[in-house]
Amino acid sequence: LRALLEQAGTSTSNALLVPQSRANEPSLADLKNAIDTKQISVAYQPKIFCRTGTLSGFEVLARWQWHGHWVSPETFIAMAEEHGLIDDLTRLIVEQSLAWFASVSQYVPVAGLTTMRSTTLSLNISAKSLNNQALLNWIVEQCDEWKIERNRLILELTETSATSEFVTALDTLTRLRIKGFHLAIDDFGTGYSSMVQLVQLPFSEIKIDKSFVMANRNSAVSSAVVRSIIDLGRSLNMLSTAEGVEDATTLDFLKELGCDLAQGYHIAKPMPAEAVIPWFERRESTREQSRLVSVNHS
Ligand code: C2E
Ligand code: MG
Ligand code: MG
Ligand code: MG
Repeated sequence: LRALLEQAGTSTSNALLVPQSRANEPSLADLKNAIDTKQISVAYQPKIFCRTGTLSGFEVLARWQWHGHWVSPETFIAMAEEHGLIDDLTRLIVEQSLAWFASVSQYVPVAGLTTMRSTTLSLNISAKSLNNQALLNWIVEQCDEWKIERNRLILELTETSATSEFVTALDTLTRLRIKGFHLAIDDFGTGYSSMVQLVQLPFSEIKIDKSFVMANRNSAVSSAVVRSIIDLGRSLNMLSTAEGVEDATTLDFLKELGCDLAQGYHIAKPMPAEAVIPWFERRESTREQSRLVSVNHS
């Protein structure tokens, strides 16, 4: 009997760990638990200057692995927003990413043209957090505590969030800008902001939604949208960033249009903290080599 029980042991305990009723999607309790036990991690995705290829900074993206599979941020961020967990989640992400950024932002690669010293860190901030003054003040304190210059932090807000409650947003965003942070309008082209609102909000960067960038090669309408957002950014004195750059052709197209910054799988996928410096080293030494080649040829 004992042998039989031992044999059955694994499957029995597995059955206990994974109850039959388990749905494929995590529950609110799962998310709450993940936040409380700090199981939400972050990935960093580089952003480069289109014209020179120089590293400009990183976007912080939340990651959650639940029962062996990655839950889409769109899913768990929406869940957190809906159930009042977003501020705790944001704190967790800010804590991790500022600690990381403080540790790497002075880094100088062995063979490289550039350093990490002028890079920026972009944080996605939920619209729901715009009226949480305590959270925003806490971000300011964290930034000072880690001795990160505030102008190296970029707060990304989605277009809809920036304009749905325009008056409150204007007030909060202006105060954040005065404190020294840069502000970016994310997923531009998917919301309904009017020109008037956009001009009044203190954004320094406009991020073209990846749906237009990814479709630019096959859709004349999408490439026209990309072009006009870049032009809009230029006339409003904002940097333009294309997200979802998946191939060299698109990067060339963006360069031609005068887009300032690019982010996407073609440059690098979002990566865990420990992969960033090796990626940067490889990239810088490749850039150095091609610079030496072009010097020799001229
Ligand atoms: P986002 O801020 O617009 O982030 C860009 C998304 O595009 C990321 O998706 C990124 O992984 C993806 N992406 C980047 N380059 C490419 C590419 O070349 N091709 C394709 N197909 N996708 C690319 P991700 O990580 O799934 O995040 C989705 C959204 O979830 C984010 O969109 C943002 O709105 C939200 N999010 C992520 N992390 C946070 C967070 O910490 N706080 C808040 N409030 N929202 C977050
Ligand atoms: Mg973003
Ligand atoms: Mg975006
Ligand atoms: Mg998005």
